[in-house]
Amino acid sequence: MLEVEALCRRFGDTPAVQDVGFRVVRGQVTCLLGPSGCGKSTTLRMIAGIEQPDSGRIRIDGRPMCDTGTFLPPERRPVGLMFQDFALFPHLDVAANVGFGLQGPAADRRNRVGELLERVGLSGYATKYPHELSGGEQQRVALIRALAPRPCLMLMDEPFCSLDNRLRDGVRDAALDLLRETGTTVLMVTHDPEEAMLMGHRIAVMRKGRLVQEGPPQDLYDRPADRGVAAFFSDLN
Ligand code: ATP
Ligand code: MG
Repeated sequence: MLEVEALCRRFGDTPAVQDVGFRVVRGQVTCLLGPSGCGKSTTLRMIAGIEQPDSGRIRIDGRPMCDTGTFLPPERRPVGLMFQDFALFPHLDVAANVGFGLQGPAADRRNRVGELLERVGLSGYATKYPHELSGGEQQRVALIRALAPRPCLMLMDEPFCSLDNRLRDGVRDAALDLLRETGTTVLMVTHDPEEAMLMGHRIAVMRKGRLVQEGPPQDLYDRPADRGVAAFFSDLN
């Protein structure tokens, strides 16, 4: 459903992303894993349309998002975004935040918002404002805000990274349940191999701007392409 081919992006002398290509299968969670600075966020931002590639192709459901002569702006791409620093709108209450990207009759929008709030255990929170919520609650709202319009593809950049361990497990479980239940296709960036093993149907490992290995978690664990990949997974058991 997502096809990325030969994607390249430089920042001055830094080749942030070099010849990266992979696919994301419908209904699956694919994790983009790698150390800090390896180009994960830049890759995700190009797929979202926030960053323009120097070259390469991106297609979603066969539709070109980015190709020679084609560049679809972010608002025209069928993607939902959830970033670590993608804050909620502070001047809107929870219901308005979740309903922000929704179209259609007000009653339908209200129902959808109510149903999603209930799904993440925040039913009583509709009229609260972001500053009245804990970090974990804010991330739950950010999650359902991104999912509300039923995006074809959900792009998540370290969505649980700012949460402490206890909160992280709760929000991650809620996210996993909701993503599975809705059959949402996900590309999620993480630098945490444990999180990638837990969440990913497939893992794509990046290093220094390049994709070094892609496959199901167990394959990467059992047959790492090189010592770098092996080292990434060596602390897991
Ligand atoms: P992290 O895990 O720390 O978030 P990352 O894998 O997401 O890292 P990127 O943010 O994609 O890494 O950055 C890849 C490289 O590109 C880094 O060397 C970074 O310094 C550089 N870079 C990213 N964005 C810019 C920018 N706007 N201007 C200049 N250099 C940039
Ligand atoms: Mg990043």
